[in-house]
Amino acid sequence: MSKSEPPPYGFVPPPQAPPSYAQAINGVNAAAPLTPQQPILTAQHIVTTVIPLGPHSTHTICPSCGCEINTKTKTSPGLIAYVSGFLIAVFGCWLGCCLIPCCIDECMDVHHNCPACGSYLGRHRR
Ligand SMILES: [Zn+2]
Repeated sequence: MSKSEPPPYGFVPPPQAPPSYAQAINGVNAAAPLTPQQPILTAQHIVTTVIPLGPHSTHTICPSCGCEINTKTKTSPGLIAYVSGFLIAVFGCWLGCCLIPCCIDECMDVHHNCPACGSYLGRHRR
């Protein structure tokens, strides 16, 4: 087919359900693939669980994927670490001491992630 003809006058394309691929190819009305109805998200999707996040890996149910998981923890210097590091720096100890608070575990925030889906669950703040 080298040229496409304009649709005849009066041709109104069906307002819904454009022809499927198989239909267009074979001209056969294939069994219309029923779009599965999205399950109505009710109680199971409402995330109201307040996960008690501690400084260590916590056994919980991931509110995102619903898996039973042990949270993956990752520490990062919290505000205290930065502030105390800054204060130490201000008070004249420049020989790397300002980095100490960033290495003290007690100053670290603990971030919890889901190992299954990777979603961020929250953090434990010191
Ligand atoms: Zn998850």
